[in-house]
Amino acid sequence: MSADEVVETDVCIIGGGPAGCTCALYTSRANLKTVVLDKNPFVGALAITSHIANYPGVDKSMTGTELLDMMRDQAIQYGTDYKKTQVFMVDTTSEDGRKIVYTPDGIFKTKALVLGTRRRGAKATSLGMRYVRGSSY
Ligand SMILES: Cc1cc2nc3c(=O)[nH]c(=O)nc-3n(C[C@H](O)[C@H](O)[C@H](O)COP(=O)(O)OP(=O)(O)OC[C@H]3O[C@@H](n4cnc5c(N)ncnc54)[C@H](O)[C@@H]3O)c2cc1C
Repeated sequence: MSADEVVETDVCIIGGGPAGCTCALYTSRANLKTVVLDKNPFVGALAITSHIANYPGVDKSMTGTELLDMMRDQAIQYGTDYKKTQVFMVDTTSEDGRKIVYTPDGIFKTKALVLGTRRRGAKATSLGMRYVRGSSY
């Protein structure tokens, strides 16, 4: 994808950690065209966890990265499009109500926007947006 290519989606999720993957699982299963934009699958809070102690049903030998891989694969199996790319700006001022999400690998025009970047990641304000109808954080 080139930087100026535009992709239209129903749901655009920024962040591919547990929050983003869980959201993607639900929206994909609801037949909403869903894309997850994740800058790096190895830097989230779960990804850097070497030992999982208190997550129901997960064997203690499983690492955070392995659990995250399973969450991501499950969302992809239901139709989520996962892209490894960093969001650097969001425009929520479009007159048709769509949010425009900018990455070095393309532009995403979406009906609903979800931020799953956690505290360590990008905050809504740092991406150039205020709370608007149709976005969740
Ligand atoms: C050391 C440690 C141990 C933990 N142990 C446990 C435990 O045993 N049991 C438990 O239930 N919980 C545990 N937690 C908590 C759990 O890991 C977090 O609550 C969970 O990972 C949060 O998920 P998240 O999706 O909100 O954020 P994250 O997992 O942090 O994911 C955020 C994602 O957003 C992406 N991102 C950020 N900015 C951008 C951007 N501009 N563009 C694109 N992508 C972006 C990042 O690449 C990342 O993949 C632990 C946390 C830590 C730090």
